[in-house]
Amino acid sequence: MQISARLVKSLAYHSSAVAPISATGTATLEEIASNRRGLARVVLKKGKTQLFKDGSPMVYSGAVDRVIGRPPPKTGDVVLVADGAEKPIGWGLYNSVSMFCVRLMQLEEEVISDVSCALDMDKLIETRIYAATDLRRKMGLPSSDTNAYRLVNSEGDRLSGLIVDVFGDAAVIASSAAWVEKYRAEIELHLSRISNLNNLIWRQSIEVLKEEGLDFTRHQKDNSPSALFKKLKIIENGICYSVSTEGQKTGFYADQRENRQFISSISKDQKVLDVCCYSGGFSLNAAKGGASSVTGIDSSLTALELANENVLLNNLDPQKVTFFGEDASVFMKDAISRKESWDLVILDPPKLAPRRKVLQKALGMYRNLNSLAMKVTKPGGLLMTCSCSGAVAQNEGTFQRMLQASPSMFLIIIQINMKDYFFQDAASSTGRKITIIRQSGAGNDHPLDLFYPEGAYLTNFLVRVL
Ligand code: SAH
Repeated sequence: MQISARLVKSLAYHSSAVAPISATGTATLEEIASNRRGLARVVLKKGKTQLFKDGSPMVYSGAVDRVIGRPPPKTGDVVLVADGAEKPIGWGLYNSVSMFCVRLMQLEEEVISDVSCALDMDKLIETRIYAATDLRRKMGLPSSDTNAYRLVNSEGDRLSGLIVDVFGDAAVIASSAAWVEKYRAEIELHLSRISNLNNLIWRQSIEVLKEEGLDFTRHQKDNSPSALFKKLKIIENGICYSVSTEGQKTGFYADQRENRQFISSISKDQKVLDVCCYSGGFSLNAAKGGASSVTGIDSSLTALELANENVLLNNLDPQKVTFFGEDASVFMKDAISRKESWDLVILDPPKLAPRRKVLQKALGMYRNLNSLAMKVTKPGGLLMTCSCSGAVAQNEGTFQRMLQASPSMFLIIIQINMKDYFFQDAASSTGRKITIIRQSGAGNDHPLDLFYPEGAYLTNFLVRVL
């Protein structure tokens, strides 16, 4: 764990907004590379060049014909990426182990229009962090009622493998690429130039970094914040949260901010159920929006400790907002058996399809959960149902088909449990219809690279359950 506390006020990005200076004059990558001895060249196979010229940022090993360079490049080294004639089309960061051989950082055309970052990681990190900060500022982030947001969204901010979430005056840096580990000092330096950002906290995706070739027997794990930074206070949509930097992902799911706000706007006098509530994001928004009662369910007791703390932080009535540590399916089945239902239900389960290979199995789990969620929604009530599986988001129409199948799926499940009286009872009341009211994804601080559709992961549908 490494925490830096730097205040470089003279370079404050937010207030004085001094953009990194671009170099004047033009040069091709070949010309710039001629001054750099030992720069390796990754030559693409015939017919594979166009994809990367068009903008696909990840050069997979199957697209590579040969690597020219003595000594051969090491993981994290800057390399040229060239077409079959060995002419550079761009440059990026090499990985000798990963299936992604090069993460392309800049294309030749970009170098020609601005040479300042060419083959220069320090300058590139500075420029991209500046651009990311500028974009968030244009989106109104931070603001007086939100100081928790995603500052750097990996490929979406053209820094593949780097995620930075800002929580007040702290930033949690999630690293999932070998180059991020190599350029830690540069990343820290340029983040610390952002005004009011005083504490940098690293969270490594250990398993992904192992696939990137990092040896954690030698490389120190860096995932346990000091006691001082375990708990942070943030504000989102005018609601205060206690965030644990040891919690899930970076500690807080900033991606649902706009969807939470929407829930707040439709909660007045509603009886609300928040399934998989984590630290209570949707619950608190519903309560602030005037819900008559809110029930939050999560299997993680540490998440619920935060949720309860957050109720008190916002002076909400703990009688009206209650949390239960339970399995989502068990809770909803129990509710069905006691014939309890809600006007507004939110279902935000964890990533059930971490890989495309397990998509079919995961869809079965999503169907089961959604069937139950529809059953606990009053006729004419609303269900906000989410998936944070990339494999679902990237297959157009998959989530809708799963939702269509959910009411009848429940019928199938209950028919194989015929002995159970409760299930027979449920069977007689299936045949619910749904209509889609709103579709959305992650908030505007999660930009997507069109040439990297794998970056899309969050699906959020609001449906009316008839
Ligand atoms: N809605 C939350 C984010 C949810 S993330 C927010 O707005 O912040 C998914 C949550 O599902 C996690 O908190 C995780 O602890 C919880 N979870 C995982 N498996 C579960 C299960 N079987 N039953 C209930 N909750 C579960």
